[in-house]
Amino acid sequence: MATFRAWVVEKGEGGQSLTFRDFDEADLMEGDVTVRVTHSTLNYKDGLAMTGKSPVVRRFPMIPGIDFSGIVETSEHPAYKPGDAVVLTGWGVGETHLGAYAERARVKGDWLVPLPEGLSAAQAMAIGTAGYTAMLCLMALDHHGLKPEHGPALVTGASGGVGSVAVALLARAGWHVIASTGRDSEAEYLRGLGAAEILDRAELSGTPKPLAKERWAAAIDAVGSTTLANVLAMTRADGAVAACGLAQGMDLPTSVAPFILRGVSLLGINSVTTPQPKRREAWGRLARELDLDKLAAMTTTVGLSDVADLAEEILAGRTRGRTVVEVA
Ligand code: NDP
Repeated sequence: MATFRAWVVEKGEGGQSLTFRDFDEADLMEGDVTVRVTHSTLNYKDGLAMTGKSPVVRRFPMIPGIDFSGIVETSEHPAYKPGDAVVLTGWGVGETHLGAYAERARVKGDWLVPLPEGLSAAQAMAIGTAGYTAMLCLMALDHHGLKPEHGPALVTGASGGVGSVAVALLARAGWHVIASTGRDSEAEYLRGLGAAEILDRAELSGTPKPLAKERWAAAIDAVGSTTLANVLAMTRADGAVAACGLAQGMDLPTSVAPFILRGVSLLGINSVTTPQPKRREAWGRLARELDLDKLAAMTTTVGLSDVADLAEEILAGRTRGRTVVEVA
């Protein structure tokens, strides 16, 4: 009987538990491609899944881990053959489908993308779901017609995973980047990624007014809640905010004022079920446009057996940038 090492979330009478144990390959879920996972990452959602702080796990037992890179072992999918290097983000992996914190994963070939040319498996996961989502945000702002000459771009939750990649991508695209953070200690780090200004996140935490002084033309928000409401109230006329996260909260205590009096647009970003053409476009742009030295500067690497120690840390906003999980 073939087994492999995996983190497993189980639900019992005492609530949710997380153990690192052998998992029987025969218990993997349905899929036409089996992958030897080499790298995964730590995302905010993985923190929620491992701790059970939010019900992201919808099936038990569950192997958490929402993204991976690896090598195809067996495939019945026409696009993939053994030995191919692949990347997966989203599609409910680590939530409804057995996930990435394991030496093996079996998934639908339609969910995979080939490892983008120019990126190693480790670099693809240094980007991971968070970095890929930052690119989807940038693409949404581009699609809206916004350009650096329209004014500054704000990034909230800037020291986190989405935020760090967003700062680097916007700076590289020529934007004057304002990085909002709650951590003074990360100012130098953020300037190193390309931030031109640092904004204390406390300035975005007060009770939001319907409208406030116009400060940026574009924003990428990983935080939600009161912060997003303030960001909208401070966005310049005809600007746009790409909203992807809820690190502060799910609520949005705003009014229609920014939309109807300033023509501000709120662009929703969902990375989980992005169709293939857009997915491949995003990965292609990441491979071409993300400065790999900056990616290295924002990346920490841990072993598979250590990832659970970081679950509470990421939820508390104490991790910086991106964390790669080395599986093999
Ligand atoms: P991280 O924890 O790495 O980053 C979140 C950052 O938000 C923190 O580093 C911190 O930055 C800031 N933050 C944390 N708590 C608070 C708070 N209470 N108030 C204000 N700011 C806070 O997470 P990720 O980058 O992995 O994910 C960011 C968000 O985006 C998450 O909510 C995640 O679920 C979401 N997401 C959504 C996706 C989608 O498809 N829509 C895909 C990927 C992520 P600082 O210390 O600099 O202030």
